[in-house]
Amino acid sequence: MPKLAVRDGVDEAIAAFRLPEKLGFGLVPAPVMYSAEFRDGAWGRGELLPYGPIEIHPGARALQYAEQVFEGMKAYRVERNDANLFRPDANWKRLARSAERLGMPCVPQEMFLEGICAVSCLCQQFIPQRSGTALYLRPFIFGTETGYTVHNSRSFRFLVIANPSEIYAAGALKVTIERDDIRAAKGGTGYAKTGANYAASLRASSQAIESGYTVALWLDAETREKVEELSGMNLFVVVDGELHTPALTDSILPGVTRDSLIGLARHRGYRVVERTIPIAELLEQIGDGRCSEVFACGTGAIVSPIAVLRDKDGRTYEPKDVDKIAKELREELLAIQERRAEDPFGWIVPVPATLDAVTG
Ligand SMILES: *Cc1c(COP(=O)(O)O)cnc(C)c1O
Repeated sequence: MPKLAVRDGVDEAIAAFRLPEKLGFGLVPAPVMYSAEFRDGAWGRGELLPYGPIEIHPGARALQYAEQVFEGMKAYRVERNDANLFRPDANWKRLARSAERLGMPCVPQEMFLEGICAVSCLCQQFIPQRSGTALYLRPFIFGTETGYTVHNSRSFRFLVIANPSEIYAAGALKVTIERDDIRAAKGGTGYAKTGANYAASLRASSQAIESGYTVALWLDAETREKVEELSGMNLFVVVDGELHTPALTDSILPGVTRDSLIGLARHRGYRVVERTIPIAELLEQIGDGRCSEVFACGTGAIVSPIAVLRDKDGRTYEPKDVDKIAKELREELLAIQERRAEDPFGWIVPVPATLDAVTG
């Protein structure tokens, strides 16, 4: 891979940056970003540049046809000086699968890691050090070719931007069950991490927030009877002391956190079942107490308890336990991610301390 270029202004942007007291989630941009372009069938060399607006043709297919795929991951530096990533190989594999579904080229794994590590390395002094905080990394690829004929672009851009962040939604979530809109259908793009899926989900999410709730729960497109996931988070339920989560289909996003929790929970002796979960059964079992707890998981939210589910008819369902097993798993997972506990799974990858070590 050709050597990484560092553009003018990067050092100044880093020197001028101050980490604010309040971070939120994705609100404070880190001062540097990574960029590479795909042209004539190949990726050019990576560059580091100051974070800021980019130029894009108004007719670019990313804007006109949502030709975009992305990832979400974190660099951690809790109460230590050296930073680390969590399962970056899993994020690259998923990006490759997402890109394949959309007919786009993915960046090679080495370029993906170069981008992630270069941004994390240059921003390491700004990675917040309180437990639960991290540098949230957003790598994404989008089509830059203009024209309205319906086919993929032949030119693309890969960017890695980052935000020092807190947990996505702290505290217990309040969930609305979405009975009208659908997020993803069989044969569609549901399993790909693409902005297009979010476009389909934004209206329900906004309605949920307007009514004092946090997030929408999605059902399958075909029957509207099976639980799939939340907008941006996967779902677990505790039934008779076992952990159940919807089995993956092509309309469910395969979360890295979901996969990690399955491994972690089994390691801790829980029985974990991946199966079809009918919404009617879930609501009945919350009602009779067999389902004691419901929680969400994702990179941003980590593991978030759900306090209440509201149906379209206005009825509400409150699991009897909130944040019991969720808390145990969140603390265990966070301790591994933040390197306060042993990592028996080989999930932790260090961030090189210097840019020279990144480009190796
Ligand atoms: C990213 C995402 C998730 C969570 O995936 P993680 O890899 O755990 O962060 C769940 N659902 C959707 C729709 C997503 O986009």
